[in-house]
Amino acid sequence: MKNKGFTTEILHSDRQSAIEHGALIKPIHTSVAFGYKTAEEICAVFQGRQPGFSYGRQNNPTVGALEQKISKMEGGLASICFATGMAAITTTLLTLLRAGDHLVSSAFLFGNTNSLFNTLTTLGIEVTFVDATDAANVKAAIRPNTRIVFVETIANPCTQIADMEGIGELCAEHGLLFVVDNTMTSPWVFRPAKTKAGLVINSLTKYVGGHGNALGGAVTETGVFDWSTYPNIYDSYKTGKPSSWGLLQIRKKGLRDTGASMTAETAHHLSMGAETIALRQEREASNALALARFFASHPAIKKVFYPGLESHPEHEHAKRLFRTFGSLMSIELKPEVDCFQFLNKLELVILSTNLGDNRTLAIPVAHTIFYEMGAERRASMGIADNTIRLSIGIEDVEDLLADFEQALA
Ligand SMILES: *Cc1c(COP(=O)(O)O)cnc(C)c1O
Repeated sequence: MKNKGFTTEILHSDRQSAIEHGALIKPIHTSVAFGYKTAEEICAVFQGRQPGFSYGRQNNPTVGALEQKISKMEGGLASICFATGMAAITTTLLTLLRAGDHLVSSAFLFGNTNSLFNTLTTLGIEVTFVDATDAANVKAAIRPNTRIVFVETIANPCTQIADMEGIGELCAEHGLLFVVDNTMTSPWVFRPAKTKAGLVINSLTKYVGGHGNALGGAVTETGVFDWSTYPNIYDSYKTGKPSSWGLLQIRKKGLRDTGASMTAETAHHLSMGAETIALRQEREASNALALARFFASHPAIKKVFYPGLESHPEHEHAKRLFRTFGSLMSIELKPEVDCFQFLNKLELVILSTNLGDNRTLAIPVAHTIFYEMGAERRASMGIADNTIRLSIGIEDVEDLLADFEQALA
């Protein structure tokens, strides 16, 4: 089956490989170990000469079916799933970086990724944070020991959009690995391979799952990067085409070392969610645009951060690259408006972290998820005490508008 639409591909991906009884959905295989009839066969599987399953930490048939689905979504060569999005990021970077290496990262970063990068500095890996909305800032930070440039597509919570075209070109020129965290957009809205990302990371917990009932993460090899120029690949993983050495090392060494594997039950939940990603994100984006316009004209609101508004600094950039403007937005209330009072008046919208849930969620970020990083770093990221992050769900838009309207009154 070639060149079908995004949703068609995802819906029919499981049955592309034979499933017992003609089942349409890959079953949940809970076996940790897999038995072989001959010594030759088990050795061939363990040495990667024959496809097959070895041990549940490294691979599993149900997880494998989800990995194929993620690869189709990203238009990539192959993917590896992990227990969480953070597990995907941690395992990838710990597998590819060594003490003495340098990482350039966007300064506008998911809080937990920021925390991880601070941990990397304690291991002797240098990290420089730059304003990645302009590739010139990334260029200025490159050093002889730079290995990786890491950005998020749309930053959380102030929705800055990285200059992915410029950074992709720059990385190609300098032979650097470009890693893009695509969580905020999802592969339906944007494929980072288009802008020369070598590896793409997704937290499947968010838009891919969509139902807030399972944690998961994935890393996808796009085929863009030539690993034969990358210094940290061990000889034992330099087998087959150089375009897939990186992912092989992450699966063989990374997943073994961290043990951050996804379970079959989780893969099943996420796989069911993945079937409707385009439908959900279309609805979320249209709800989000209606709400952003409402907030932009409301007297209690000082600022609205949403790439779909023409006033957003990277609006044209988003229009060019993304299929929709997404469903993450932040609002900054006027200083005289009591942020907690507003939140407490919301009846339908849920006070909760998480993103990409079918339900609309609101959280005061300075007091919660960005609390630990301190006021100075928050200010540098554009986060005020009155900033509220919203993840817009699939509810009927009239109900969302009515709830925000009464809470702001
Ligand atoms: C949530 C999130 C992660 C981490 O994902 P988990 O599945 O919660 O570990 C990473 N990056 C971004 C941009 C996220 O929003």
